[in-house]
Amino acid sequence: MKIPKQLNTFCPKCKSHTRHSVSLYKAGKRRTLALGELRHAMENRGYGGSKKPIQKRLAKVTKKAALKLKCEKCGYTLSRKGIRLKKADIV
Ligand SMILES: [Zn+2]
Repeated sequence: MKIPKQLNTFCPKCKSHTRHSVSLYKAGKRRTLALGELRHAMENRGYGGSKKPIQKRLAKVTKKAALKLKCEKCGYTLSRKGIRLKKADIV
């Protein structure tokens, strides 16, 4: 699906419709020292393999693409609900 680079939408901070620049949401970098991350590493150590099975057949074919909209007037960023797309093209 083609998504425009800029679009006009409501900004809750400006309380009016303003121009927004569009980008795709990407998950942040995992913190290696987070407790869950450390625990997972500990459980996977040594003899016995991984704690949870690796999923091989997934039900869904696509991934959700969430849009990040940044107001060009005040800089406030809002995110749109993710939609299932095979390919998201920002043009
Ligand atoms: Zn704004």
